[in-house]
Amino acid sequence: MAPIRIAIVGAGPAGIYAADILKKAAADREVSIDLFEALPAPYGLVRYGVAPDHPRIKAIINALREVLESGVVRLFGNVHFGTDITLDDFKRHYNAVIFSTGASKDAPLAIDGIDLDGSYGAADFVSWYDGHPDVPREWPLEAREIAVIGNGNVALDVARVLAKHPEDLLPTEVPDNVLDGLKASPVTDVHVFGRRGPLGVKFTPLELRELGDLNDVDMVLYDDDFGVDPDEEEQKKNKQILVISRVLGKWRERETGSASRRLHLHFWSKPDAVLGDGKVESLRIERTRPVDGGLEGTGEFREFPVQAVYRAVGYYSSPLDGVPFDEMRGVIPNEGGRVVADGEQVAGVYATGWIKRGPVGLIGATKSDAKETIEGLLADEAKWWQPEAPEEDAVTALLAERGVQFTDIGGWAKLDAHEVSLGEPHGRERIKVVPREEMIRISRDS
Ligand SMILES: Cc1cc2nc3c(=O)[nH]c(=O)nc-3n(C[C@H](O)[C@H](O)[C@H](O)COP(=O)(O)OP(=O)(O)OC[C@H]3O[C@@H](n4cnc5c(N)ncnc54)[C@H](O)[C@@H]3O)c2cc1C
Repeated sequence: MAPIRIAIVGAGPAGIYAADILKKAAADREVSIDLFEALPAPYGLVRYGVAPDHPRIKAIINALREVLESGVVRLFGNVHFGTDITLDDFKRHYNAVIFSTGASKDAPLAIDGIDLDGSYGAADFVSWYDGHPDVPREWPLEAREIAVIGNGNVALDVARVLAKHPEDLLPTEVPDNVLDGLKASPVTDVHVFGRRGPLGVKFTPLELRELGDLNDVDMVLYDDDFGVDPDEEEQKKNKQILVISRVLGKWRERETGSASRRLHLHFWSKPDAVLGDGKVESLRIERTRPVDGGLEGTGEFREFPVQAVYRAVGYYSSPLDGVPFDEMRGVIPNEGGRVVADGEQVAGVYATGWIKRGPVGLIGATKSDAKETIEGLLADEAKWWQPEAPEEDAVTALLAERGVQFTDIGGWAKLDAHEVSLGEPHGRERIKVVPREEMIRISRDS
């Protein structure tokens, strides 16, 4: 039987889990998997999304690395689908392709003033503090008072990084330029705004609880946000909500006033407009109230003086050349991972992870995504492409011919060791290398 040749685009957790599951599911066959990644380093949002002060989650990289080092998967880093390699190339060299390109941009928020100077997307800020090579290395941290819009874990990450004293980030892998930027920040107050009530948040209890442990930061809550929803007791039957309610309850009883920084949580507050003359001067919210399981505006507006606004209202994926895209949902349209266009399956093309399902859910969820996609792919063998040049060398030759400076798993081992060695003398986990050219140089150094 001919070996199965599969391309995967995107070396985040979804792509790596897909490779692992495919390798195990087709253990009785010869399988060769090539994983293409636009960045010089693998791991997607685990490296460039998960906050630096979450080392336990970052450690998932160790398990993902084992898959990449298992010998069944070849990693081609610094290869961008759409420019360095195309769908036609895949048809020539593989039986099928799986897209696991995730999401990296901010979803829009259509309110007045959102484009003022000082108004930012959370995804851009996250990319900065996680040392993404393709974003500017400077970040303007000049505001004393900051608004963060959103009630999910990304909003909490952003609020925590903004409010935390930078020396408490020291042992982590936070890049040096980020540490310097945060040290210069004059911030005193970070206000987080959510449209729903305190029990309607999308935070997970662990992430929320962590805020209460921040050194020299007071948690500030407001009495008129509590006891508003008549369904509160019903909601508390959900264990996660009950824990959240208890955490918030404890904070309401705490003494505040002694810390040099404050993190305020505001609920029932829908962003209405960012105000300012050329740059952000305040955020206006409209108070909301519960109605028939939903929400409505009360017509009461409040204005908070802030000099910066961060919107954390979700991520959005990018369309890929020649691949169907659902603009509304920001995903590749698919049925269980089989890509569809106009109701018909697109032969040979599959999707998994955030680009398949939308940008919600933890890393673990990308594993079950991948399982479903791989089951579909293996069941479709009769519909696969019949490649003209399936030999493994053909792809390497093609990239070399195009002058693509690709990196591989050996290159990641070098970069990883280099980053760890940079951190060691300072008692830090690692110091991330940020510039793309330097990442490539270290990875390709022979
Ligand atoms: C700020 C933030 C914090 C998070 N924190 C946590 C947490 O603490 N715990 C947790 O469990 N989950 C967390 N998550 C969720 C977790 O990151 C996602 O569930 C997971 O990363 C999604 O995996 P993915 O592989 O689908 O996408 P991604 O991780 O986005 O990976 C996609 C990969 O595809 C590559 N790619 C994109 N386009 C191309 C192209 N054209 N050519 C080649 N490659 C391409 C990208 O560079 C990227 O490496 C967080 C998410 C965010 C945004």
